[in-house]
Amino acid sequence: CGIVGYVGPRQSQAILISGLSRLEYRGYDSAGIAVIDGDGDLGMRKRAGKLKVLRDDLSSHPMSDGTTGIGHTRWATHGGPTDDNAHPHLADDDRLAVIHNGIIENFSELKDELLAEGFTFRSETDTEVAAVMIGREYRATGDLVSAFRNVVSRLEGAFTLLAMHEDQPGLVVGARRNSPLVIGLGEGENFLGSDVAAFVEHTRNALAIGQDQIVAITPSGVEVTDFEGNPVEVEPFEVTWDA
Ligand code: GLU
Repeated sequence: CGIVGYVGPRQSQAILISGLSRLEYRGYDSAGIAVIDGDGDLGMRKRAGKLKVLRDDLSSHPMSDGTTGIGHTRWATHGGPTDDNAHPHLADDDRLAVIHNGIIENFSELKDELLAEGFTFRSETDTEVAAVMIGREYRATGDLVSAFRNVVSRLEGAFTLLAMHEDQPGLVVGARRNSPLVIGLGEGENFLGSDVAAFVEHTRNALAIGQDQIVAITPSGVEVTDFEGNPVEVEPFEVTWDA
């Protein structure tokens, strides 16, 4: 339901939580974050319930902070509002974290294909199918953008997907089809959000990502391509409303 991503010089947990709290108006039933810490380890925490449940959990059992992170608030469509069904979903031996807004209509055929190959699942969500597919393609290509390219055109329905991998800290990759995704441009840091509220307290310079496009953000830049990998022009705009 709500999505935020961050890469830059700052510790990301507070940025993710505050971005998610600005997206709370959309309604949600669960929340979670994943962060790649200074040692290059991916940590993840997710809880059913309000953002406060996640926040309290993080303050009583702190998780190592880091400068690459993604955060999600979920509005359950496939699988009830439980901790396991909350996002992020992990794959590739818990080294890859994925979050998703929307519905992957053909997830059950794709899941059967993955089950037949011996992959296992920890949730009932459509999202985890995309996570496992991206993990499989990451194994094959060693590159998150290539992994996205190999997966997204096979997904039907509506999705904004964000992912990051332990092996590529300082990189968050996103894609969208029939569901919104915007880039926030900062100084030495960049953001992704399901809407500008996710990052408007940090920057008002934004780029709208078009239908069926993939974006890669690093602290120093953003690259947007179509699903085939061709570079595309994106439209800059300034957020003018009061945050
Ligand atoms: N379909 C996904 C799920 O049920 C994502 C829902 C959302 O957009 O929050 O987990």
